Amino acid sequence: MSKQLILALSKGRILDETLPLLADAGITPAEDLGKSRKLLFDTNLADVKLVVIRATDVPTYVQLGAADLGVAGKDVLLEHGAEGLYEPLDLDIARCRLMTAGITGQAPGRARRRVATKFVNVARRYYAEQGIQAEVIKLYGAMELAPLMNLADEIVDIVDTGNTLRANGMEPRELIANISTRLVVNKASMTMKHARIKPLLARLDEAVRKRAASHEGASN
Ligand code: AMP
Repeated sequence: MSKQLILALSKGRILDETLPLLADAGITPAEDLGKSRKLLFDTNLADVKLVVIRATDVPTYVQLGAADLGVAGKDVLLEHGAEGLYEPLDLDIARCRLMTAGITGQAPGRARRRVATKFVNVARRYYAEQGIQAEVIKLYGAMELAPLMNLADEIVDIVDTGNTLRANGMEPRELIANISTRLVVNKASMTMKHARIKPLLARLDEAVRKRAASHEGASN
C-alpha cells in the first residue's frame, strides 16, 4: 500500500463547503479546483492528493481503496451501503432531510404505492419497514415531475427549504433520515495508514467544532 493519502471529494454544492474545512485542517489544493478540468490534484502536502468526482462515486472509490478517505452526503452513503467503510466524522455541512413527498392534499392510501426516486435502496428499505407495499421506480432527476405526470404516487427526495416541492404543488410527508456530509475512511487504510490518518481526523474534527462555535457565536 502506497504512503500517499488520496482524498475523494464530491463535486458540486458540498465541495464549496468542504474546502474551507480542509484548509482549516491544513490541506489546500495546489490549484483552483473550480478553474481546472483536471480530476486529480496535488495539495500543499507532498503525500496528500485530491480527486474530485461525482458524489455517488465517492463511496465506491473509498470502499475499493482507490481513495483512502472521502467526503460524501449521508444520503449517498445510505443508498450505497456502508460495507468496507468507516464513517468517523460528521462534517456538519449541507444539512438537509431525506423525505417522502407527494401532491399537496392528496394523502396516499395504504394500497400498493408507486414511488419515484434516485434513492431506490433507501426507498425500498423504508417502505418495507413501514409495512407499505411499494413499487419503486428509479429516476435520475426532476423527481418532482413524477407525481404531476402520474408516473408515481409519491417521491423520495432531498428536502432543504421545501421550495422545490412547493413550486411544483407538492408537500413533504414523512422524514426518512436527517442528512449531513460525512467523512468516510477505507477500512484497510484506517489500519495500514493509521499514523497518518489519525492526526488528520483530529484536525478535521477540530475544524468542524470551530466552525460550529463561530456559527453559534454569530447567531447569539
Ligand atoms: P429545497 O427546494 O431547498 O427544498 O431544495 C431541494 C432540492 O435541492 C433537492 O431536490 C436537492 O436536489 C437539492 N438539495 C438541497 N440540499 C441538498 C443537499 N444538502 N445535498 C444535495 N442536494 C440538495
